[in-house]
Amino acid sequence: MMKLFLICSLLVLAIASNGQSRDENQAEVYRATSPRINDLVHTKLDVKFDYNKSYLYGKAWITLKPHFYATDSLMLDAKGMDINKIALVKGTALAPLKYKYDGMVLTIKLDKEYAANTAYTVYIDYTSKPNEIKVKGSDAIKNAKGLYFINPKGEDKDKPTQIWTQGETEANSVWFPTIDKPNQRCTDEIYMTVPEKYVTLSNGLLTSQKKNADGTRTDYWKMDLPHAPYLFFMGVGDYAIIKDAYKGKEVSYYVEKPYAAVARKIFGLTPEMIAFYVKITGVEYPWAKYSQITGRDYVSGAMENTTATLHTDALQQDARELVDGNKFEEYVAHELFHQWFGDLVTTESWSNLTVNESFANYSEVLWSQYKYGKDAGDDKNFEDMQGYLGSHSESKDLVRFHYADKEDMFDAVSYNKGGRILHMLRTYLGDSAFFKGLNLYLITNKFKTGEAHQLRLAFEEVSGLDLNWFFNQWYFGSGNPKVEISYAYDDAAGKASVFVKQTQEGDQVFRLPVAIDVYNGKEKVRQQVWIEHKTDTFSFSYKKRPDLINVDAEKVILWEKKDDKTLENFTHQYTYAANYLDRKEAIDFCAKNQEDPKALSLLKTAMKDHYYALRSYTIGEMDIKKAGVKNEIEPLLADIAKNDAKPTVRAAALGLLGQYAKPEYKPLYVKAIQDSSYSVSGEALGALAQLDGEAALADAKAFAKQPLKGKLGGVVSQILIEAGGGEEDFDVIAGNFGKLPVSDAKFEALQPFADYLGTLTNTEKVKKGIDMIVDLRDAVPVQYKSQLTPFINNMILRSIANKKKTGAQSSPDLQEQIKYINSKIEEKKGF
Ligand SMILES: [Zn+2]
Repeated sequence: MMKLFLICSLLVLAIASNGQSRDENQAEVYRATSPRINDLVHTKLDVKFDYNKSYLYGKAWITLKPHFYATDSLMLDAKGMDINKIALVKGTALAPLKYKYDGMVLTIKLDKEYAANTAYTVYIDYTSKPNEIKVKGSDAIKNAKGLYFINPKGEDKDKPTQIWTQGETEANSVWFPTIDKPNQRCTDEIYMTVPEKYVTLSNGLLTSQKKNADGTRTDYWKMDLPHAPYLFFMGVGDYAIIKDAYKGKEVSYYVEKPYAAVARKIFGLTPEMIAFYVKITGVEYPWAKYSQITGRDYVSGAMENTTATLHTDALQQDARELVDGNKFEEYVAHELFHQWFGDLVTTESWSNLTVNESFANYSEVLWSQYKYGKDAGDDKNFEDMQGYLGSHSESKDLVRFHYADKEDMFDAVSYNKGGRILHMLRTYLGDSAFFKGLNLYLITNKFKTGEAHQLRLAFEEVSGLDLNWFFNQWYFGSGNPKVEISYAYDDAAGKASVFVKQTQEGDQVFRLPVAIDVYNGKEKVRQQVWIEHKTDTFSFSYKKRPDLINVDAEKVILWEKKDDKTLENFTHQYTYAANYLDRKEAIDFCAKNQEDPKALSLLKTAMKDHYYALRSYTIGEMDIKKAGVKNEIEPLLADIAKNDAKPTVRAAALGLLGQYAKPEYKPLYVKAIQDSSYSVSGEALGALAQLDGEAALADAKAFAKQPLKGKLGGVVSQILIEAGGGEEDFDVIAGNFGKLPVSDAKFEALQPFADYLGTLTNTEKVKKGIDMIVDLRDAVPVQYKSQLTPFINNMILRSIANKKKTGAQSSPDLQEQIKYINSKIEEKKGF
């Protein structure tokens, strides 16, 4: 499963988590790999959907065989079903079997004892009721339903009717009986009967379609290579299907019809990605086809169902959003790499989840680096490193046999930290050994399970090096180094010393292979050293004092560091040490010292950095409250706002230039408002608003007649709100908010929207707006509920109610609004 949203994780950081105590309570539970008594061999399903009741009527033929020991019984996961019949298939006859069912697990008594490797087939007639499933006597669950009916009766005019499934971790057993564990795998075939107007998607190939007399159609999907039950998928809906190909295999994109024209802009790099992944793994794309589909109200970011990836509908960006680039390309890259790491070789247990997720996570770096250059790859690597460091997960091992809930494994350790560990391993072994190691792991374990030890053995086999120390430290250990780096120069003796002190708590000492570059002008000499004590000292002799000593010259180590460099060192680093992070560290140092002319001079250079994201980053760091800075960068800023090739950089420059509030730039803003990029247009409109409120309001009103997203949507709403709380603009403002799928953009828009509702007086409109926020609260993916529900209740909803308290005593309307808000908070107070 793909990680969720950036803003979500930022919010989560800001809010004290109460999830930790749960971990501690169950820390003693050892999470063993599930025993294999019977093995799945094949699953055949025949399913029909009841859109009125949100039921699935299913028939299943499940073929199994005992794994090693003979057995006369079979346990199947079957969550919340009605079981109508269970029988043994004997040729064309069915012999009823005795069974017990507790609502979660079926215990079936077979007709006799079966020896190892003797196949038998069980037939089950069942009804799946995903909306009624209860877990251990608690309320009906919203998450882990496995099978989701979206707007099944078509009552919501703004939402398509869809069906999609989400198996990981163990939820597919809500819609078919199976052994719902990652260490099982089988081939499958599914007959899906659906209303004729819809298309379907499942694993493998669509082999035949048959029209029925009652206005339905039966699609027959066949998957003839084995995969784990959690990777089974069904999707049904009114989609456009856009088809590409890779080496004659279908590569297709299922999008809601209004997005058919932009589908290739969103997914169109997929064939090139497949070719790239085939090249680096040395393993051909294993499956018969590759499709990607979007799902409304999806409960996660994306899911790598074999040959049929499901994505959040937030992927469906419009043409203007895509001018700034496809924000979800990393999702496409991530889920695709899972087709090898996860689907072809599958984690043996959730404890070992990182053998799926670290690779999918790291594939985002590999793809960025290949497609957009080393800076882009390093940028992604650093961003994910910060994601891990900010998650405060020092106590968690990468491979974790103790956890409270298997869903807890889907965290910044399994994903982000795992990915950074692979990056260090790649640097240590070298590209050739690293990628040969991946190849050996894949071909040795294909169509089987993998765990961290198999990974180690593959890398050891290829490289000839012992890697126990590395795996013990990073895979079976926790935390990360924290270091302080300082320098001393003895010109008389011609000796430079570097001191590295590990400052993490306790007596844990990390062993780190590190490159140190010593610079004289642009010439550098590299030393390869081991950091392996609480304090290490490395000395180098010199004739002329070095301009820079650059520790971790490749910028790959996962650590938090304090590095005692001077402005001169950093200036040299920006100029001659070519990595993304070398330059970013210099920018960060100078940003803290921008009144220093030398620092400012470096920042001006960085505003023109050859990597666009460092240009916009630097602009974002400039502090124009400092008069010297303000005057010094103004011409450069105006030039970038006008001429930079990247819309996101122009937008950053326009945003900052707007704060100058200088009339001479008005023509620039007026022109940029017409830009096709939402970010450029939105920033320009915001800049115009600071110069000429009336003109900006007129533009905002004109824009408000069409659907708007991104920065422009936010700025238009903001201008309308500031122009007097505009009751008459409610439809536009609420519409802009409502149109955003659950995503970073929606969380960014949340506070301004709440401020607006705080100023509105019309009770009907206030209630409508509150409902939209409540919908967002209740649609937040399960992993974030325990943090985001209280955030939205206490920080957002309560703040609106508080604003309304002024004057409430004499206003029944305001009293009613406050009562309504409180009732909505009360609904979800349990979190
Ligand atoms: Zn994933």
